[in-house]
Amino acid sequence: MKNICWVLFLVVVVTAVAQQPNSPTPPAVTVIRAGTLIDGKSDKPRQDQVIVIRGNHIESVSDAASAKLPAGATVIDLSKATVLPGLIDAHTHIFLQGEDPAEGGYDVNILNAPLALRAARATVAARRALEQGFTTLRDVETEGAGYGDVGIKEAIEAGYIPGPRLFISTRAISTTGGYMLEGYAPELNMPKGAQIVDGPVEARKAAREQLDHGADWIKVYMTHRSWVGKNGELVSQPTFTVEELRAIVDETHGWGKKVACHAYGGIGLRRALDGGCDSIEHGLDLDDAAISQMLKQGTWYVPTLSAYYHDWGPADTPGGQRDRLRAAVHEPSFKKALKAGVKIVFGTDMGGIPWTEPIAQEFSPMVRLGMPPMDAIQSATSRAATMLDMEGKLGVVAPGAFADIIAVSGDPLRDIKALEKVEFVMKDGRSFKNEMK
Ligand SMILES: [Zn+2]
Repeated sequence: MKNICWVLFLVVVVTAVAQQPNSPTPPAVTVIRAGTLIDGKSDKPRQDQVIVIRGNHIESVSDAASAKLPAGATVIDLSKATVLPGLIDAHTHIFLQGEDPAEGGYDVNILNAPLALRAARATVAARRALEQGFTTLRDVETEGAGYGDVGIKEAIEAGYIPGPRLFISTRAISTTGGYMLEGYAPELNMPKGAQIVDGPVEARKAAREQLDHGADWIKVYMTHRSWVGKNGELVSQPTFTVEELRAIVDETHGWGKKVACHAYGGIGLRRALDGGCDSIEHGLDLDDAAISQMLKQGTWYVPTLSAYYHDWGPADTPGGQRDRLRAAVHEPSFKKALKAGVKIVFGTDMGGIPWTEPIAQEFSPMVRLGMPPMDAIQSATSRAATMLDMEGKLGVVAPGAFADIIAVSGDPLRDIKALEKVEFVMKDGRSFKNEMK
């Protein structure tokens, strides 16, 4: 009798556990047949591969001939396509929209737009990025929209809106005289597109505030205005001293995070490297000393070439001449860095460029300036993932990585522009339709 009671009790318990409403259901299994696979890391593509995805992770990648397909899996046939990892743009601004100078330019966003309008437009930018196959963005500051990127990131992660995974840098930091808005009556205390601080104490405090509020990276402006110098050279106004920058870098590294530094060249770039910036953004004018210091320190280089071909002023104005010189010095800098083996990562400055334009346009100048197409693809996949401390998790189609996968119908190794026409996008094992084509 005692034994029967005991067995009955066990049956009740087992049944109750089995009927728990939130007992985990096994994750969905998806199989992708890839005609050509560029896995983001290998030097050569592979033909006829089978990718098994369980939930939001890649479980296995194998030759179709030897692959064992799990029973009940959903099969996605991309056997006529080139399959790649989801792309990473390491320099974007979802809170900018490529504002037309004729319509008030940069200032209108800060002076006229309600924050909710800016947030609404940022959600569209995020969706645009995802639909073009950019499943990860490092978004390097909100340009006066405060901690808006924290909210957009939360909304994406909670599934309220579609969008890439975001690595955010909140407000960015610059000095007095080091950021817009400017050109107004000096009596007016104008809002700025970055957090303005002076001195190492304030600089460290700004980094602490931003890290406390959710910054994944700290963005620092190390140069601001630029113009054509006496000898026809590009001159850039430096901002922070090395001492100020070191306070920011030291604080940020203490939190296990990294510092991205906008720096064009000259004194500001030298201070950026002496102060220990982890990535140099734009780096228009890299001399040999800068390149060897970047190699020595392992500094990342995010050149953003395309952005400097947009919105040139008229050729007979100082601004127009400056704009042309910026693009002209950028090209040899990129070539030198490439040849020397600096770690180059794909970044566009989208937002500075309207989000209606193809994000993948940046691949073309990289390849035109001598970067092999496979190298350019890796700059937007595995190498960018390493910079983001997500090696093996992002930017690669391999077991253990997040199931962020895209496909194009052309061959990007033959024509890099094929990446401007992404036909299939999957993030975290879920595919998205491009509704904006
Ligand atoms: Zn930027």
